[in-house]
Amino acid sequence: MRLAGKNVLITGAGSGIGRSTAVLFAKEGAAVLVNDISESQGQAAVEEIVSLGGKARFIQADVTDAASVEAMVRQALEQEGSIDVLFNNAGISGVGALHEVEPEQWDRVMSINIKGVYLTSKYVVPHMMERRHGSIINMSSCIAEIGLARRASYAATKGAVLALTKSMQVDYAAYGIRVNALLPGTIFTPFVEQYLKNSYDDPEAAIASLKTRQLSGELGMPEDVAQAALFLASDESKFMMGSPLYIDGGVVFGKNA
Ligand code: NAD
Repeated sequence: MRLAGKNVLITGAGSGIGRSTAVLFAKEGAAVLVNDISESQGQAAVEEIVSLGGKARFIQADVTDAASVEAMVRQALEQEGSIDVLFNNAGISGVGALHEVEPEQWDRVMSINIKGVYLTSKYVVPHMMERRHGSIINMSSCIAEIGLARRASYAATKGAVLALTKSMQVDYAAYGIRVNALLPGTIFTPFVEQYLKNSYDDPEAAIASLKTRQLSGELGMPEDVAQAALFLASDESKFMMGSPLYIDGGVVFGKNA
């Protein structure tokens, strides 16, 4: 029960890493506010948590829309009274070298992956400042640290999330708020399945090649990232501030042959 008594808001918690984290946090005693743009996915996550004996509630919002996010945070505070942990997780992939990316696609990736972090934090932070307490976890990616082919828009957003994390930490440290970033490697989620389907003629061969990129020889699983998020959400990480936490099977710091 490492999160007993804590209220947690997770964006994009209807699928993949967000959902897995929501399930784990609830098992650890948190009351989880499951946000997603998709009502069916968000409700399914809540049903899973409740069926396991946990506490969760769905709040629909589009993290790119200021009014929608403001309403979500207001509703969360009315219903739960406080938000102790915010996990800015919602995100989409962006495939293509810079010259291949159309302006609308660029704007969409920027909007969800970085503006979404800004907006959700903007409405949650004043509440945390008032309580002089909170942990914010921002979803970056190991792509913030390494070049990967044909991911220009995605890499730009995840680098921005990492820089924003450090900047937020400096501004809010005096208010008892910690802000850290997760940098996963390739994690097998619907996001990656979709990306493989859209980008390769032979997704199975692509998975095999992706596996060789991590020193583990395997792709990560959503639960691997959820465990790292649990550490950052809990008071056990009280001395971690403005830090990147890598969950990448050795991609950033190791090299195969
Ligand atoms: P996923 O596609 O399985 O889940 C993302 C969820 O976000 C979906 O439920 C989707 O409906 C929701 N979402 C999308 N747009 C939204 C919006 N505007 N408002 C609210 N919710 C919205 O993806 P995932 O693999 O679990 O990825 C989660 C996060 O982890 C993303 O930020 C992604 O960039 C990051 N990440 C993933 C990997 C990976 O390999 N899977 C690696 C590094 C970082």
